[in-house]
Amino acid sequence: MDISSSLLTPRRATRQIKVGSVPVGGNAPISVQSMTTTKTADAEGTLQQIYALAAAGADIVRCTCNDQAAAEGLAVMVPRSPIPIVADIHFHVEMALAALEAGVHGLRLNPGNLRKPEEIKLVAREAKDRGVPIRIGVNAGSLHPDIYEKFGGATPEALVESARVELAYFQEVDFDDVKISVKASSVATMIAAYRLASETFDYPLHLGVTEAGPLPGGLLKGTAGIATLLAEGIGDTLRYSLTADPVEEARAGRQLLEALGLRERSGLDLIACPSCGRAEIDVIAVARAAQDALANRNLPIQVAVMGCVVNGPGEARHADLGIAAGKKRGHLFIRGQIVRVVPEDEMVEALVAEAEKLVAEGFEARLAAADSGAAAEAEADRLELLDAKGLDANNSSVKIANIRRQQAPDA
Ligand code: SF4
Repeated sequence: MDISSSLLTPRRATRQIKVGSVPVGGNAPISVQSMTTTKTADAEGTLQQIYALAAAGADIVRCTCNDQAAAEGLAVMVPRSPIPIVADIHFHVEMALAALEAGVHGLRLNPGNLRKPEEIKLVAREAKDRGVPIRIGVNAGSLHPDIYEKFGGATPEALVESARVELAYFQEVDFDDVKISVKASSVATMIAAYRLASETFDYPLHLGVTEAGPLPGGLLKGTAGIATLLAEGIGDTLRYSLTADPVEEARAGRQLLEALGLRERSGLDLIACPSCGRAEIDVIAVARAAQDALANRNLPIQVAVMGCVVNGPGEARHADLGIAAGKKRGHLFIRGQIVRVVPEDEMVEALVAEAEKLVAEGFEARLAAADSGAAAEAEADRLELLDAKGLDANNSSVKIANIRRQQAPDA
């Protein structure tokens, strides 16, 4: 685990439940969820999407179960899915029962639109018999009308009250295999609601900003809400709700957890300098080419693309592997140490080849295989570039002398 996670507020203690094989809550790793956009009745198409989501970092997937054909699709998919499937239920109690019959690993009930207490208790009893957990999925946009009226709107208190009322029905039938979400499209409302939920319940919390919208705004909203809570130690599982290919949701969830040091790196982390006047290459184009070339190779390393050799290798010395541009050449470095100098038009190719060797052979072997003259060659390039740009472009020694004269005219 990345040491940086220990700098965050310690995670709040919650109970642990299991969604299929995935533990949620307690000390389980924070899990990533997404939702399929295919018709659930199309089992083959949906499975294809589920495999793509799992490859992008999803630990759990949700599929809508809105009619009998969808329930039948679930029955086909459950044994073939690489990750547990949760059925999303709105309005129809019979769809919850059909999804359970299909063998799903979890249910999500929206208390705002499955309202009859007897039906809620019936589903809870059936879920209990089968050992299937239920998420109480409160949503500010579909809050129970009575609660909406009582609180004068979809306030954080109203969202938590909705979860509490649903929980009370579950408790009547002795069912507590539960996780809770209190989502809103307003980031501020969502943050306040989850803080309150975290003080009120010890059930695992599923985080999300609902209807966050398309990229990039949706990503920003989702991150603002989810990351704030995670940094406070709140949250056991999460979903980005993006108007985009759901693979983006899974990827974003995974990357957020890795960025916070809450999950081990599972894939590539490409960093690149923002570029500036010193850049010797088109950093954006090279970074994109490197990202495209490395994206599907599943290499769990951090790779840096830096625009110049003057500052690049030093600023990215923490990266596992990197390349910096200078004098029409690329300086390839491993953890800050120059290992090879290559022509500029071979930079991306050399980076990809070295990344694969690094993962296959390890750091020691690749550092031992470094070109012997590479460091000296690179340093010569760096000094020449520094010289060309001016070691002191601001002519600071003259300016400093002037400042000193101004400040002490009599000296
Ligand atoms: S690495 Fe070089 S080009 Fe990139 S931002 Fe830093 S100084 Fe500028």
